[in-house]
Amino acid sequence: MLDADFFRRWMTAAAASVDREAERLTALDSPIGDADHGSNLQRGFRVVAATLEKESPDIPGEILQLAGRQLISTVGGASGPLYGTLLRRTGKALGDAAEVSREQLAQALRAGVEALMALGGAAPGDKTMVDTLVPAMEALGTSFEAARAAAEEGAVATTPLQARKGRASYLGERSIGHQDPGATSSALLIAALVEAAG
Ligand code: ADP
Ligand code: MG
Ligand code: MG
Repeated sequence: MLDADFFRRWMTAAAASVDREAERLTALDSPIGDADHGSNLQRGFRVVAATLEKESPDIPGEILQLAGRQLISTVGGASGPLYGTLLRRTGKALGDAAEVSREQLAQALRAGVEALMALGGAAPGDKTMVDTLVPAMEALGTSFEAARAAAEEGAVATTPLQARKGRASYLGERSIGHQDPGATSSALLIAALVEAAG
C-alpha cells in the first residue's frame, strides 16, 4: 500500500529530477517554445519540496493537492496550471484514505489526466504532456515498471508529431522533428513515481 511517505518521496524525487534535468528541459523548449520549461518547473517544484518540508499532511490526497496548489501559484507558464490541475484532481480523487493501492492511484490519475485534458483541450497525438501521461496512467494499472516504460515511449513518440496545442503549435510543420518538452518532463514525473515505489 502507498502511504503519505510514499507521496512525499514521489514529490521530493520529482523535484530532484527536475533540478537535474532543468537545462535539458529548457533546451527542448528552445526550438519549439520560449526556452523556459526547465526553469518554470524548477521554480515550482522547489517550492513544492520546501512546502512539504514545513507542513506535511499525513493524507496522500492532501499531499498531492498541496503540491498542485503550489505549482499553480508559482509556475508562470502553461505547464503550471496543467501540472497543478493534474496533481490537485488526482489528490482529490484519492480522498482522505491514509493508504491507497497502486490500482487506486491509477484510477485517481485517470481523473487527474482527464482534468488536465479538459483544461488544456489537448488529446493524445497533439504533441503535449498528454502523450506521456495517458499511456503511463493506463500502464500503471499493470505495474510501476510498465508505467515508466510507457511514459518514456510516449515522450519519445512526440518527436515526429506536429504540435496542435500550446506554443509549439504556432510553428505548424516546423514543430515536427523535436521532442516535446512537457511530454519529457511528464516522463520524469512518472520515473520519480516509480523511484518512490522502488
Ligand atoms: P509555456 O509554453 O507557457 O512557456 P512551458 O514551457 O512551461 O509553458 O510548458 C510547455 C509545455 O506545456 C509543452 O511542451 C506542452 O507539453 C505543454 N502544453 C502546452 N499547452 C498545452 C495544452 N493546451 N494542453 C496540454 N499540454 C500543453
Ligand atoms: Mg515555455
Ligand atoms: Mg513561457
